[in-house]
Amino acid sequence: MKINKHFDDLVPNYLFADVARKTAAFAAAHPDARIIRLGIGDVTLPLAPVVVEAMKRGAEEMAHKETFKGYPEYEGYAFLREAISDYYKRFGVTVSADEIFVSDGAKSDCGNIGDIFAQDNTVLVTDPVYPVYVDSNIMAGRKIVYAACNEQNGFAALPDESVEADIIYLCSPNNPTGAAYTCEELKQWVDYANRRGAVILYDAAYEAFITEDLPRSIFAVEGARTCAIELCSLSKTAGFTGTRCGYTVIPKELERDGHNLYDTWYRRQATKFNGVSYPVQCAAAAVFSEEGQRQIHENIAYYQENAQIIASTLRELGIPFTGGTNSPYIWLKCPNGMSSWEFFDFLLSEANVVGTPGEGFGENGAGYFRLTSFGDRDSTVEAMRRVKKVLS
Ligand SMILES: *Cc1c(COP(=O)(O)O)cnc(C)c1O
Repeated sequence: MKINKHFDDLVPNYLFADVARKTAAFAAAHPDARIIRLGIGDVTLPLAPVVVEAMKRGAEEMAHKETFKGYPEYEGYAFLREAISDYYKRFGVTVSADEIFVSDGAKSDCGNIGDIFAQDNTVLVTDPVYPVYVDSNIMAGRKIVYAACNEQNGFAALPDESVEADIIYLCSPNNPTGAAYTCEELKQWVDYANRRGAVILYDAAYEAFITEDLPRSIFAVEGARTCAIELCSLSKTAGFTGTRCGYTVIPKELERDGHNLYDTWYRRQATKFNGVSYPVQCAAAAVFSEEGQRQIHENIAYYQENAQIIASTLRELGIPFTGGTNSPYIWLKCPNGMSSWEFFDFLLSEANVVGTPGEGFGENGAGYFRLTSFGDRDSTVEAMRRVKKVLS
């Protein structure tokens, strides 16, 4: 028996373990310190009431012979795919219900979609990056190239015609930088992909946080239907991190190498995936109802206000940052030339505030730091009061 040798190529990433270890050590040495965590990438507000009602109704149907459901359809129940298709219509994008696959979340799909592509493709990711795109492709033995995101390009890398890539991961609004692409910028990626015969894997997990006039879907961009797959999730949109539901869109006209990618992915899912539970699909459909949208947007607005509290503090202090407006993340330049970890230690010891060092997301994250708006209001306000005090 031999193990997949590509696992030896994974670079150990101790980012969150190191953050937890340093925080625990500080807490043990300073038992009276009230530590505030603004490093979390998880939501904290509960599910919306209509969502919980729908989940309960779904569970009740499972309790009776007449309404009991066995295996769901591989691609998800039609009622949910229709609801998602209608949701796209609301922001002017046409995606038909039979181009949608319901899944247990975007992280699985981001990793699993690689099953349909050959090993000898070159993968392009941006740096800093959501680690799933990198590690899942290292496990598959693919070559990875990096597009630098930095102050010069506003942390939104654009295509370089001299780079040869076959699979391109884009995430907008971005985790960790909070930057969001404009239509014109995405059009450059779409044109690059169509010219090269490449495929864009577009992660739209944060689309619901967009407040400006920016594309909520790559399919808002002309030409995307012949080169892009979109991955989305209810995790951040509707607090589904512990409930698990996402969706992936593959346009029917997307063909590569003599294969229709919808059909190829369908075959893969039918082989390795038996679908999302009925009560969860009922809950997900409720997110897209009128009342569901009203309720989830109350929660999103709460996080957005936290983001504004953080952003206004940074502005007052003259600290440059991206994000916060179309994203729950704020990506800031560490003040006084501190490194990411120096700033982490400084904030923890002086303000008892925990964030995430940027270099954990890639080389270009060195000297940067991520704060999130997923905390509660009082903690966010208090954290910013302390940050102002120690940096003024
Ligand atoms: C949180 C997040 C997701 C969502 O993952 P789920 O598996 O659906 O919870 C996807 N992409 C990015 C970049 C994220 O930060």
